[in-house]
Amino acid sequence: MKIIKTQVTVIGSGIAGLIYALRCAEFCNVTVVTKGNPEQSNTQMAQGGIAAVLANGDSLEKHVQDTLKAGGGLCNEKTVRWMVGHAPEAIRELEKFGVQFDKLPNKTFDLHREAGHSVSRIVHHKDDTGMEIENSLLAKAKSNPNIQFFAKNFAIDLITNNNCCYGVTVLDEIKNELLQIQSSITFLATGGAGQIFFQNTNDVVATGDGFAMAHRAGAKLMNMEFVQFHPTTFYAPDKKTFLITEAVRGFGAQLKNKNGEPFMHKYHLLESLAPRDIVSFAIASELKNQDAPCMYLDLRSFAFSEIKNHFPNLVIRCEAQKINLQTEMIPVVPAAHYMCGGVVTDLNAQTCIQNLFAAGEVACTGVHGANRLASNSLLEAVVFSKQAAIATQKNIQNSKVHPENIFIDEIKTDNVEIDFSETKINLQKLMWNFCGIIRTKSGLKTCINELHKMHLHLATHIEQNGFSFSKLELRNEIETALLIAMAALKRKESVGCHYISQMEKPRF
Ligand SMILES: Cc1cc2nc3c(=O)[nH]c(=O)nc-3n(C[C@H](O)[C@H](O)[C@H](O)COP(=O)(O)OP(=O)(O)OC[C@H]3O[C@@H](n4cnc5c(N)ncnc54)[C@H](O)[C@@H]3O)c2cc1C
Repeated sequence: MKIIKTQVTVIGSGIAGLIYALRCAEFCNVTVVTKGNPEQSNTQMAQGGIAAVLANGDSLEKHVQDTLKAGGGLCNEKTVRWMVGHAPEAIRELEKFGVQFDKLPNKTFDLHREAGHSVSRIVHHKDDTGMEIENSLLAKAKSNPNIQFFAKNFAIDLITNNNCCYGVTVLDEIKNELLQIQSSITFLATGGAGQIFFQNTNDVVATGDGFAMAHRAGAKLMNMEFVQFHPTTFYAPDKKTFLITEAVRGFGAQLKNKNGEPFMHKYHLLESLAPRDIVSFAIASELKNQDAPCMYLDLRSFAFSEIKNHFPNLVIRCEAQKINLQTEMIPVVPAAHYMCGGVVTDLNAQTCIQNLFAAGEVACTGVHGANRLASNSLLEAVVFSKQAAIATQKNIQNSKVHPENIFIDEIKTDNVEIDFSETKINLQKLMWNFCGIIRTKSGLKTCINELHKMHLHLATHIEQNGFSFSKLELRNEIETALLIAMAALKRKESVGCHYISQMEKPRF
C-alpha cells in the first residue's frame, strides 16, 4: 500500500474542512482528502446564510435564547454562548478568505430574518450563500502551496491505535488503489447523512461516512436521532428536487391537498405559517392519511409579476419542471435536511480520540440540542474549525506521526463493480418509512432488524469479493442508519426533531 506522510490530514472539503485547512496552512503542510469533486458538498447548497449578532437592536443574549429555544432544552448552554460570542469574528474570518456578503448602501450587512430568530441577523450572499462560501474558500485553498488536494479519494477508515489517531486509509476512486495517509493530526469534516433518506435536500456526497468511520474507530457519538426535516421541498418523482424557502409561505402561499383543500388549520393556529417541525409533521400525517405522494403549495391567487419579483429562482425552477404558477399548485414533500447529532467534540473540536478533531455537520458540539436553529450550522462549522486549528497549532509539535509498528488490516479491492443501487433505494425507503418524521417503537424495531440483515448481506459480499467505492459508501450508509434508528428507539419522549407516536398502530 502506498504511504503518504503529512502533518495534518483533513477529510472533506466543505466549509469545515476548508476553514481548518486554510488556518493550518499558516503553520504546517496540509493534505485534504475528498471524495468526488472538491466543491461537492452540502456547503455549496446552502441558500439562507449565517447567523451573527451584527445589528444595533440585536444582542448576544437574544441569539443565545433563540438557539436554546429551538434546541428543545437539550443544547449545551456553555457551548451555545461560546459559538454565539464568536459569530461576528467568524463572519470577518470568511470575508478575510474572500467571501462577499450582501451589504446595504451604508456598507453595513443586509441582514435577513429567518424562522426562530427574534431579529434580523442572517448574513447572506443573494440566495446562494453556500456557493459563494465554497467557491471562495476553495479558490484560496487551491492556490495555497501548503495545501495538497486528493480529490476523488474516498476515506475508508481512521488509522487508530491505543485511542490515538494517526491518519486515514483511502481508496483512490479513479485508480482503484489504496493509500495510507499518515499524519500527526486528523480532522474529520465529512458532513451529514441526508442521502440515507428517500426524500432529502442533500448533495449526493452526504452519505454519513464520517459518523460510521468515527464509530468504528471508537469515538463517542450522540443525538443521532435528531434528524431535521425541511417541510417543503419540490416533489419530483425523478428526484430532481430543490428546497422551497419558508419565505414563500411567509408571502402567503397556502398548503393544500390535491383537491385544493387547506389542511393546516387541523394542526396549528398559525396554519401554513406554523413552525418548521409542525409543518413537516402535518404534511407527513396528510400524506399517510390520504395515501398521497405529495401535498401542494398554492400561489395561484397572487399576481405572477409579484411572485416573480419576490421569488425569481422559484419561478425559473418551476418553469423548468413545467409548472405554471398561475394555474397549478407546486407539489411539495418534507425531506431530511440536517443531522443535529454526531461525533462528540469539546470547545476545541477535539473528539475523545487523541489527535482526532471533528467539525461541521459530522460533529456534535452540543450547540443544536434536539433541533437546529436556522443558519446556525455554517456558523458552527466556522467557529469550531477555527478553534481546532488553534488547538492544532499548540499541539502539533508534541503529536507523534504514525508509529512504525501499527497494524493495519489488509484490504482487498474489487475490480468487479456490482450495482448496489437497488439496495440503496431500499435503505432510503426503509429509513423514510420507519425512521422519518413520525416514528413508532415497532416501526423502529422493524427498521433495525432490516438494517442488520442488509449489513450482514453486504459484509458477507465484501468478505468474499473485496471492497469497492460504492460498497464502502453503502456500508457507511447502513451503519449510520443503524446509529440513527437505535438512538431513536432509546429516546422515549418526543422532543425537537424526534417525534415518537405512543400508538403502536398509529393512524399515520
Ligand atoms: C439545501 C441546503 C440548504 C442549507 N442552507 C443552510 C443555510 O442557509 N444556513 C446554514 O447555516 N446551513 C444551511 N444548510 C446546512 C449546511 O449547509 C451544512 O450543514 C454545512 O454546509 C456542512 O458543512 P460541512 O463542511 O460539515 O460538510 P459538507 O459541506 O457537506 O462537506 C463534506 C465534505 O466531506 C466530503 N466527504 C464525505 N465523506 C467522505 C469520505 N468518505 N471521504 C472523503 N471525503 C468525504 C464530501 O465530499 C464533502 O467535500 C443547508 C443544507 C442544505 C442541504
